[in-house]
Amino acid sequence: MTLAPARPGREAPRPRVNLYSDTQTLPGAAMRRAMAEAEVGDEQLAADPTINALCDRVAALLGKEAAMFLPSGTMCNEIAVLTHCRPGDEILGHEDCHLITAEGGAPWALAGARVRGLAGARGQFDAPTLAAALTPASRYAPPQTLVAVEQTANLGGGSVWPLARLRDIAALAHAHGMATHMDGARLMNAVVAGGVPAAEMAAGYDSVWLDFTKGLGAPLGAVLAGSAAFIDAAWRWKQRLGGALRQGGMAAAGCLYALDHNIERLAEDHANAARLARGLATLPGLAVEMPETNLVFIDTRGTGQKAAPLGARLGAAGVALSAMGEWRLRAGLHLDVDAEAVDLAIALIGEALGRPNS
Ligand SMILES: *Cc1c(COP(=O)(O)O)cnc(C)c1O
Repeated sequence: MTLAPARPGREAPRPRVNLYSDTQTLPGAAMRRAMAEAEVGDEQLAADPTINALCDRVAALLGKEAAMFLPSGTMCNEIAVLTHCRPGDEILGHEDCHLITAEGGAPWALAGARVRGLAGARGQFDAPTLAAALTPASRYAPPQTLVAVEQTANLGGGSVWPLARLRDIAALAHAHGMATHMDGARLMNAVVAGGVPAAEMAAGYDSVWLDFTKGLGAPLGAVLAGSAAFIDAAWRWKQRLGGALRQGGMAAAGCLYALDHNIERLAEDHANAARLARGLATLPGLAVEMPETNLVFIDTRGTGQKAAPLGARLGAAGVALSAMGEWRLRAGLHLDVDAEAVDLAIALIGEALGRPNS
């Protein structure tokens, strides 16, 4: 068994419509120009003005004192876990959260902390479910030190956690002496869809981060925010895991460009997701979850084909999707897919489903 993905381009032609993920965006000319022209310095010495500007902007946007630039969202999650938790601790999160399903077991492997999965519809749990999972402090039970939420909930269909639920969960966690963490890979999608400012959504959360490589369209970068004391402690973990990004301002400039140009337009991705969902719902055998943001989940059971083989067939027909579980395909809308491309995707998928299964 190989753990590396097959190299695209060898076996498959470039998809005509790439809905594999909102990570598939390519930086455009203006973003590249901003990156090329960035003023830079050594981040180790807090002397990269572009990284500093990005961290200041994101801290203000998220209503936190301080922030730290990192290469990826996964690193934000893991550095947050390492900073909040000690070996033997228990983290509570939804059973489908990225921390559990997609980080190679890093909370267990790196922090020695396990993540206990809570149940709930559309990738979300509520305060009563959290309350039922809390254990009284004792020498027997693992210390419960962190509650994590994911805004939006990726495998929950890109669903938006309501503000009241976020507040109730944070209040309960804090009353239990736990810290709170928000995985904000698609937080700005939630902000644009729900009309609630990011700082308000993140208010009860001791750490929160934004990804710039999803819908915001930068080639790399994520920013983790929290109190000044939290970010100070997180810096030791950044150092332990590889250290500063030196003249990383070139990457941060892409993120600043994204903040200026690519937030309001997320509404177009949400409209295109709804357009795709409506179109696919008319095709035989596909059961489509109506999207709240930019992700569309498609249940393939009605076609009699599992997600992976059907996804491969649709890929060969020109539409790249990702298989998420046995019977679910996911389409991620992003800035390189416009309404015309959505209509083309619906047509190509319709044609492929109409052809006999080869
Ligand atoms: C993509 C994603 C991550 C990880 O972000 P990367 O920048 O790809 O490492 C974490 N959480 C959620 C919910 C995600 O969708």
